[in-house]
Amino acid sequence: MRDIACRIATAIISIAFFSFCFSGCASVGIAVPSSYGAFLSEEKAGFAIKYYDIDYIQAKRISDTISNVMAFYRTNFADTELRKFTVYVYHTQEDLVHGLVACGGLSYESARRFARSGAPRPLKGLFHVPITLDLRTIAHETMHMYVEAVSGSAYQRIKWLDEGLGEYMSYLFWKQASPDSAVTAKINEYNAFLSQNRDRFISLDRICAESQWTGLNTGSTSSLIYHQAFLVVGMLAKQDGLEKIKQVLVAVRDGMAAETACQSVLSRSQADIYEELVNLEKVDGLL
Ligand SMILES: [Zn+2]
Repeated sequence: MRDIACRIATAIISIAFFSFCFSGCASVGIAVPSSYGAFLSEEKAGFAIKYYDIDYIQAKRISDTISNVMAFYRTNFADTELRKFTVYVYHTQEDLVHGLVACGGLSYESARRFARSGAPRPLKGLFHVPITLDLRTIAHETMHMYVEAVSGSAYQRIKWLDEGLGEYMSYLFWKQASPDSAVTAKINEYNAFLSQNRDRFISLDRICAESQWTGLNTGSTSSLIYHQAFLVVGMLAKQDGLEKIKQVLVAVRDGMAAETACQSVLSRSQADIYEELVNLEKVDGLL
């Protein structure tokens, strides 16, 4: 009986949230609903967060994590100003999907990719998240805002670098907050991935354009391309440094093709970088 009451309450809350989305942000941009009671909005340094009061504890975890991530990234992206953004915290993953359609401008097809987990990259200053979003995904998606601040929309022409930076920087953030044993376990995991997938890696010119990435971002290939992009950026960060990586983004923003930008800034082709990855023996020194 209590379970039924709970489900009914959840349904009412969900309807209230969707009603807010449909009547509020879809038509007039960011708006605080007036008729759904305790929907809260808090201003933080650099962003606002909006959530229902029942989600207060998780929303605080999310906003604290974002603040900590931004402080951490600032050390490497000191010159990069993020536009002020708004975080919408959804009560369930299902709410997120509906909210992305109503408020985020996504088609239902695109939104339902987040039916089970995760959240889409923040776009146009709006960051839609479920309350359960984990620390590393928060850090990954936040990194996308820095990439966009550096490159504009040009990241869509060098996706392996865009997603690789998300994976790599979120790893660095996670690492500094994790015990040594967890870091060692993660390094072992990446070493195992490297040895098992070396012959499956995809050449960088095939994971460059947004459409190429989206086409491969499915099934087991999805985890392959994210892991691969992570290792490539880890390798470049070690050999060339993050400043050079940012320069590649700037070169692409200024009109260079990804291939030309790599040759110009890193003095090697995407094929050269791919060869370095394939010949990488262990990740220990990188991570
Ligand atoms: Zn991403």
